[in-house]
Amino acid sequence: MACLTGLLSAPLALATDNGHLPGDWQAAALSTMAAGIWLGATLMRRHYHKRKTASLCFSARQTDAALIVVAEDGQILAHGKGCLQLWDTLPEHLKDTGLPAALCADILHRRIAMGNAIDSPMSTPTRPHAVINLILLPGSSRVMLLLLRDVSASRRQLLDYQHLQGTLQGARLGLVRFDLDKRVVRCSPQALHNLLGLPSDCDEMPLADWMALLHPDDRPILENALIAPQAAAERQVCLEYRLRHQQEHWEWIEQRLRLPERGDDAMEVVSLCQAITSRKLAEAAMRKREQEFRTLVDNSTDIIARYDLDLRCQFINRSIGRYSPLVRDEHIGKHISEKGWPDSTVAHFIDECRQLMQTWEPRSFELEVALPSRRFIFETRLFPEFDVNGTLTSILTVDREITDTLLARRLLSEENAVMEMIVANQPLADVLAQICAMIETQLADGMCSVMLLDDSGQHLRVASGKQLPPGYLALIEGIGIGPEVGSCGTAAWWKRTIIVEDIATSPLWKNYADVVLPFGLRACWSTPIFNTDRKLLGTFAIYYPTPRTPSPDEMRLVYRSSHITSIALQRDTHERQLYRLATQDSLTGMHNRRQFLELAEHELRRSQRYQQPLAVLMMDLDRFKGINDRYGHAAGDTVIARFAAVCREVLRGSDLAGRLGGEEFAAVLVNTRPEQAVQVAERLREAVGETPVENSGQQIRFTVSVGLTMLTGEGDSIEDALKRADKLLYQAKDSGRNRVCHDDSLALQ
Ligand code: GH3
Ligand code: MG
Ligand code: MG
Repeated sequence: MACLTGLLSAPLALATDNGHLPGDWQAAALSTMAAGIWLGATLMRRHYHKRKTASLCFSARQTDAALIVVAEDGQILAHGKGCLQLWDTLPEHLKDTGLPAALCADILHRRIAMGNAIDSPMSTPTRPHAVINLILLPGSSRVMLLLLRDVSASRRQLLDYQHLQGTLQGARLGLVRFDLDKRVVRCSPQALHNLLGLPSDCDEMPLADWMALLHPDDRPILENALIAPQAAAERQVCLEYRLRHQQEHWEWIEQRLRLPERGDDAMEVVSLCQAITSRKLAEAAMRKREQEFRTLVDNSTDIIARYDLDLRCQFINRSIGRYSPLVRDEHIGKHISEKGWPDSTVAHFIDECRQLMQTWEPRSFELEVALPSRRFIFETRLFPEFDVNGTLTSILTVDREITDTLLARRLLSEENAVMEMIVANQPLADVLAQICAMIETQLADGMCSVMLLDDSGQHLRVASGKQLPPGYLALIEGIGIGPEVGSCGTAAWWKRTIIVEDIATSPLWKNYADVVLPFGLRACWSTPIFNTDRKLLGTFAIYYPTPRTPSPDEMRLVYRSSHITSIALQRDTHERQLYRLATQDSLTGMHNRRQFLELAEHELRRSQRYQQPLAVLMMDLDRFKGINDRYGHAAGDTVIARFAAVCREVLRGSDLAGRLGGEEFAAVLVNTRPEQAVQVAERLREAVGETPVENSGQQIRFTVSVGLTMLTGEGDSIEDALKRADKLLYQAKDSGRNRVCHDDSLALQ
């Protein structure tokens, strides 16, 4: 018998029995052989495990060898590039290849032992007298592989054995024949050495010895295959078992054998053995990894799921239980729209999936799921999954819940924004609206209001509440505080947080429920807002359209919001105080000198622009020193304050009055003609004379002298006008006091 090193050496070995091969044949032979080994060792392995004819065909097309993939019925499914040297156009059926019909029949009925090389004449249009060296390679139960070689010109030539054997040894393949009659196992040369580390010259052993080498657990596998072959339904069998290697480890062997037919004479089973230990170890490692992966997936706090391209759930891990009313199994087969998610969430998810299907790129986005009980925000990632042909088959989704972190992040940044607004002295209304918006972001469906206590301390005024129905805001504007006045009135009354879970049933709302419920408000939690001295400033309330109890987190948020509102209110109060201090006279509440001059300048310019008359008054209390001396400084102060009050009474709201210092005052009468101005000044003077101040049972009478001038035109300034008025004031003093002096040049009608 020819020296066979393994399956693939067969055609080459037979071809070299009696002759020499030209160099190019050797090269071609080696390339064919390499392709074969590659197919045998790699593709077949992949094929047998995946049982995919398509993948086998695909692989065959990649090879340079004259390799054809033949279906059970003889259809040629695919071929290697080397076939084009035999046929210009490859026939569609095995019987049209030019091989003898009998051989074709033997091949199709698998009467040729796998791995045995056969020489056969073959006539193709390009090679009418070809001699083909043919070998049947293991395919699958459905297809087989034929490796062909035109050896017409190069038969019986010598091949470089050394090289060949070296290559084959790497493949760790061997032909093993079980002679069941003689109970002997015969192997191709080197096969036992390659597979089991036995001496190189050992090519035969008793069947019993072979069986003894088998791993005890695996022994039945081979015994069943060899001893009861008739029972086997399939003639082609692939076994995997462990044999004891000379180096004392277990070697995994894959054995493909063709069982003898019932009537076969020779009880010889020919098989192809291959050491697959590394593959087995890889598989075991992969199984372990898969197991680990599955454990990870199952125990992940993320929701991990797979959807088909119709967006039906194929798999989902148990984390879904935390977020869905459906049990895990109920998700399987359900479309994304059937999971009880809000429509907007479903639409968002579907849109992202569509984009993935168009681009095949992973997606990452935030997905908000507002369930009746709670709102969840997920960071969702979608990954495309492909099959071996590179076709998109499914979408893997990983949802990580980030509700708390995201809301905390948003809250922080929005609080910062509010703080910045406060620091930047933005209008209070804007700051309060921003605080409400911030809390509304945190609490889905929540609507906020801020109400402030009015000066009387008895009523609340709406300061913010954009999300609440305007009709409702109008209804609560100015409500009095009391023990049963809804949530806010009651919270302000008792100075503590009032949680009303359902307005419809709360006794605090019984007087209002009928008018409030039509606005779609059901729950209202209100918390009082205090300043740092625990003085009540107002209330912060959150409304919901459905009955609801706050969670501890939500309560914390309510307190936080009332706290930040308090900061905004106090800051506003301080600002106004500062402004007052900077602009007002504390004794009289009138504008101080600086503020008066600034505002007067402003009015002056406006009057000039609109060409309206403007009167300027300088006023000084008469003989004030004497009042101080007689009644004391405090009484003097009272007189000054009284004078300011008289000014407020007599002058119009649009006029300006200020205390320039001591008992000296000024006023600007806008849009006032000279004669009107004189009348006003006289009225003021008279009113002062008629308003004595009570002091310790005594009446302090006092008078005022007034200098009056009019704005003269374009070039006039407030300083000039005041100077003129001051001169006139002195005239008034000189002419006996308690009088009004005006410019003679004024055209008084
Ligand atoms: P005349 O009619 O000429 O104006 O006489 P007069 O006494 O009012 O004289 P003058 O305007 O010079 O005096 C102003 C006095 O008013 C001097 C000062 O002691 C007193 N005075 C200034 N500021 C205040 C104040 O805030 N309170 C009190 N009680 N007295 C003040
Ligand atoms: Mg005076
Ligand atoms: Mg004075």
